[in-house]
Amino acid sequence: MNAEIIAVGTELLMGETQDTNTSWIGQRLPEFGLEPEYASIVGDNLTRLTETLDRAWRRSDVVIVMGGLGPTLDDLTRDAIAKMLGEPLTTDPELKDWLEENFARRNVRPMPRQNLRQAGIIPSAVAIRNAMGTAPSWWIDRDGKLLLTLPGPPRELSNMWTTEIAPRLKERLPGKKVMSRTFKTIGLSEAAVDEMARGVYDIPGMDFGVYAKPDGIYLRAIAKADTEAEALNTLLRAETMTRDALGAYIWGTDEEYPPERAGELLLRRGYTLAVMESCTGGMVGAALTETPGSSAYFLGGAITYSGAMKAQAGVPEETLREHGAVSEEAARAMAEAARRTFGADCGVSVTGVAGPGDQDGVKAGTVFIGVATPETAGVSRHEFPSRRPLVRNRAVTAALLQLIQALQERAP
Ligand code: ATP
Repeated sequence: MNAEIIAVGTELLMGETQDTNTSWIGQRLPEFGLEPEYASIVGDNLTRLTETLDRAWRRSDVVIVMGGLGPTLDDLTRDAIAKMLGEPLTTDPELKDWLEENFARRNVRPMPRQNLRQAGIIPSAVAIRNAMGTAPSWWIDRDGKLLLTLPGPPRELSNMWTTEIAPRLKERLPGKKVMSRTFKTIGLSEAAVDEMARGVYDIPGMDFGVYAKPDGIYLRAIAKADTEAEALNTLLRAETMTRDALGAYIWGTDEEYPPERAGELLLRRGYTLAVMESCTGGMVGAALTETPGSSAYFLGGAITYSGAMKAQAGVPEETLREHGAVSEEAARAMAEAARRTFGADCGVSVTGVAGPGDQDGVKAGTVFIGVATPETAGVSRHEFPSRRPLVRNRAVTAALLQLIQALQERAP
């Protein structure tokens, strides 16, 4: 079955808001056996939106429309769908009650009249209430096709998709059941992953893809079968073989991201961590504390931007003098100093030149990352493309991955 995605909003066309929803949804369609074939962005204009919907409805089995579900007069998705399908738009009394309760809970009484628009419904649509906002989704199952609306704000969209839409799609869509798993690797090139995993590719009923991402090379395994149990079996077989082939090069799967995985490993080891950061200005600490419960392992650290500060935090002055602040030796000493000065089991350090210009003869984009644990101490050198924000973001990811690698049970 083919699917089509439509993002609604003039601000998306004008580049004021980046359309992240399309790729978020697009990524999730294959697991339902849906092939995304078209995606479009259309402004808040009734004629053009109706035209776009009409074309999508004629050529696609599943149409997903995102945004334009708000209460204001330029939120036209409901009107355009009603017009395109030739169905009357009326107020749903149950939706109206739900909206009024929603406002009453927030002590807004009476509900602004304008919000009644969000209680609008057409006969063939089933409304799905939005747990995070006031824009309900529509589920339209007509003429053997599906048309779904999703709220525009990404948090509302992902919550609606995960809790309401995905389970319904699983029930509704015939044919093959599709399950996938993404293995995230560190320390290997795309070609190396491809080569090492080659044996896994021969499993019948499986598709594989290798992608380069900022946090390593991903291997995505997709199992297709007639039943869910069969797909799961195939996927588990692929997982065993993939883990045998790639071993400790795998740092995580699916939705796992580096700060979470690092935290999990620290907890499992019962280790604490402190950081000493220069060019990332505290971003490693910020990333680590994104994970709830991080206080169980993350003690804190220092942003030692100047040489004097590095020395004050415990980095030997002669190391800085002899090798420079951006050097393998400085990174090693900073990671050790993070452990020692802050009484942590593990230390992570970042020192580099974020750019745009070179500094003291060191090329912009050069970053050294140090990781010291009770068992290991290591420094890596990176040359990132020298755009300042990119250098800093890449350095954070690289630092977390290096920490993960040092903490993984079987070091590669
Ligand atoms: P609301 O009830 O909040 O108005 P809505 O469904 O009408 O929901 P829009 O008004 O179209 O959604 O968009 C609300 C906000 O959601 C936008 O200002 C933007 O920040 C975000 N948003 C909308 N569409 C997208 C998109 N495709 N990608 C990323 N963010 C989006």
